Amino acid sequence: MRVLFIKVLFVVLAGAALGQAVPPNQTPPSAGSRSSDQAAANPAPAVADSPVTSMPYTPGLDTEFMDRSADPCVDFYQYSCGGWMKKNPIPSDQPGWAVYSKLAQDNERFLWGILDDLARKTSGRTANQQKIGDYFAACMDEAAVERLGADPLKPHLDQINGLTSKKQLPALLARIHLRTEGSGMLFGFDSNQDYGNSTQVIAFASAGGLGLPDRDYYTKSDPKSVELRQKYLLHVQRMLELLGDQPDTAQREAAGIMAVETALAKASLTRVERREPHNLYHKVDLTQLQALSPDFEWSAYLKETGLGQQDAFNVTEPAFYKELNNQLQTASLDDIKSYLRWHTVHSAALFLSSGFVNEDFDFFGKTLRGVPQLRPRWKRCVGLVDRQLGEALGQEFVSRTFSPEMKQKTLTMTNQIEQAMAADIGQLTWMGPETKQNALIKLHAVVNKIGYPDKWRDYTSIAISRDDFAGNVERATMFESKRKLNKIGKPVDRGEWSMTPTTVNAYYSSRMNDINFPAGVLQPPLYDPKMDDAPNYGNTGGTIGHELTHGFDDQGRKFDAQGNLKDWWTAQDNQNFEVRAQCVVDQYARYVVVDQIKINSKLTEGEDIADLGGLILAWMAWKDQTKNTQLENRDGLTPEQRFFVGNAQWACENDRPENLRMHAITDPHSPGKYRVNGLVVNLPEFEKAFACKAGQPMVKENRCRIW
Ligand SMILES: [Zn+2]
Repeated sequence: MRVLFIKVLFVVLAGAALGQAVPPNQTPPSAGSRSSDQAAANPAPAVADSPVTSMPYTPGLDTEFMDRSADPCVDFYQYSCGGWMKKNPIPSDQPGWAVYSKLAQDNERFLWGILDDLARKTSGRTANQQKIGDYFAACMDEAAVERLGADPLKPHLDQINGLTSKKQLPALLARIHLRTEGSGMLFGFDSNQDYGNSTQVIAFASAGGLGLPDRDYYTKSDPKSVELRQKYLLHVQRMLELLGDQPDTAQREAAGIMAVETALAKASLTRVERREPHNLYHKVDLTQLQALSPDFEWSAYLKETGLGQQDAFNVTEPAFYKELNNQLQTASLDDIKSYLRWHTVHSAALFLSSGFVNEDFDFFGKTLRGVPQLRPRWKRCVGLVDRQLGEALGQEFVSRTFSPEMKQKTLTMTNQIEQAMAADIGQLTWMGPETKQNALIKLHAVVNKIGYPDKWRDYTSIAISRDDFAGNVERATMFESKRKLNKIGKPVDRGEWSMTPTTVNAYYSSRMNDINFPAGVLQPPLYDPKMDDAPNYGNTGGTIGHELTHGFDDQGRKFDAQGNLKDWWTAQDNQNFEVRAQCVVDQYARYVVVDQIKINSKLTEGEDIADLGGLILAWMAWKDQTKNTQLENRDGLTPEQRFFVGNAQWACENDRPENLRMHAITDPHSPGKYRVNGLVVNLPEFEKAFACKAGQPMVKENRCRIW
């Protein structure tokens, strides 16, 4: 992935181990305490509250965003992004602000224009337009949402309150999982490709059950972590009070909930451990699954999900399931009921009245990420349409913003980057012929998915009404849950996308062996048809190279051309890769994220490798593309300098310290500053382009190079 987007409410864990996290609406990481201080001292207002009917234009390379008083050989990030950081303070409803999040907000405003128009109409709309228009209208009807308060939760809370024995839990939990779609209450249950046979989809039972964004939040003992846990306890208590519990009761319940979550957290693998796919592959049959957690009747759970008999499961973390069983034995029925009530209100907070929305924001926005102000309702509603009916909204977006010519141009660039990688593999001095041949087979098997899916998702079966927001949410969620579970036991659909077309992000999937670039990310300033080649290759070419390199990073390289977890490396080449990857790990381990916290470079290893490989491949492709062209200087920059500045200007950002602390734990990407400076120090081409000298900060003595 190019950036990490965290949902406001739901912790993004699903598939993250393989670089396939789910989208929506927040911001990537950042560095530079200077810029954060600046932004904090001078808070910017949230975006103007009006929809737009055309996408605002920002050029692909903007010299105004540079700081030419900085020396590119001393701090290239400051040189390329200093102006941007100054001119783009963090809006008050954002945890951080970056070129990607700014474009995402432009997309949001444009989508708002589309949805606002469709919401006003009552006739002349296609079936999909009726659905997204009426969904948006119902979501924007704040008065109706306020009138209902917590009523939409009542039937669900009644079911939980009616639990009289732990034996009834599996069937109830199945119903809860269906209507919360992967919120992972107690554990995660989903479908995914079998690591051993990527053509088949099987059930995945994964770790889950937490309210905080990572297991480390429950185990760290530094003062900030301890304080955060205290605040989390108070938040859980207040949410239960909003459901009508007395303060002392709610306080007791929160303590019981914390005990369950802490036990589950301690039994969960760390993010670094989850980067090793072998740690996550334990294929079992129903008898073995039952033996792992004897107190949870799996056949009752499966029956209630509608799956019936299943006999192939991947239990990603067996130790977690042993602890889950332990909790089911030792926690009281009341504690389990409190836990279920808390997670029910937590996962639904965004859809409820303002008391719930504000309390949820107070902890997850303000406390956890330092955001002063809740996002305006229109943004939350646009985000929900994208999340629940994303391919219907995506069709509207694509028809207005992504021409066939644009698709062809970016596809051509993708093919060029792939050719560059083939040439690069051929030239590698550290890899033997046998592994090279396998690498080329894998490279040639990569499927390029550009813009949007060939076959759109069919939402016909979801009824959407303009006066039933809670019902719309529930029906769309059930649709998505069942759609995912229905894949189990069937051959994989290789045409499927796991990001919506409007998303400003991209991903590689090691099991699909495909690279995916939504139309949302192929817009100016990231890809600018009006601009010369140099910045476009530096920016979008770098992104394409980044995603492609993921197929050959520390995780991706463990999967073969068909997406199976299978070793195709000779022992010697394996060792050679490890040595080169360690160079990158050691380099990034020295960089500071915030306070005294350094990058956890075993966590960011794959992204750092992808950034470096991506830039090298983009350079090779650009050089090849322009080899017979006389290139000209522009804006006082040589073509080579424009390539590097164009690349750097994808990563300009400002960030809040709270948000950086969260990213230091959860984000597999390094802060923007190091995604720029950490690369150029390794490139002799950069040293030459800016006539830097040995010994300067942007010239590294022992350069890292893998791909
Ligand atoms: Zn990535």
